[in-house]
Amino acid sequence: MTSRSQTDLGSPSDPVGFDKHDHADCINTGVAAAEAHCATNQLRFTPVRRKALEILLQEHRALGAYEMLDRLRDAGFGSQPPVAYRALEFLVANGFAHKIERLNAFIACAHPGATHSPAFMICRACDSVAEAQSAPARGTLGDAARATGFQIERTMVEAVGLCPTCAEKAAQ
Ligand SMILES: [Zn+2]
Ligand SMILES: [Zn+2]
Ligand SMILES: [Zn+2]
Repeated sequence: MTSRSQTDLGSPSDPVGFDKHDHADCINTGVAAAEAHCATNQLRFTPVRRKALEILLQEHRALGAYEMLDRLRDAGFGSQPPVAYRALEFLVANGFAHKIERLNAFIACAHPGATHSPAFMICRACDSVAEAQSAPARGTLGDAARATGFQIERTMVEAVGLCPTCAEKAAQ
């Protein structure tokens, strides 16, 4: 497993969602990255796919499929569940979004365009999610895998805890 491409894309190891940042820039960058990727790979970035990504990018929180369906309907894309599911499937398959298994919900990728093993920090109080990088092959899991001859293809790291805002509230 190599991660050379990541070095060209800023510092993808910084968690994004819990930091103060220019959120408009966040949305524009995410949409532009998806647009470029689709153009290069001859994928159709249809209006509903674009809208679904914009909706996810507006939040640093995971959205369930039904919540997505409501938002798409409000935006005029009809109310058939397959519309939302197919759009989400496309975004996940192309790395523009991730599925958070614990929440059974979806979040926009914080590092679009980078090949990576995401690790999620999920706030148990407010459900906000930040994405960081994990390097499972280099950690103790990697050691265990090497020792047994197991080849890791995919890992899911979902840490549950309190975000800085909720931790501050809890301390008061
Ligand atoms: Zn943002
Ligand atoms: Zn990601
Ligand atoms: Zn929180």
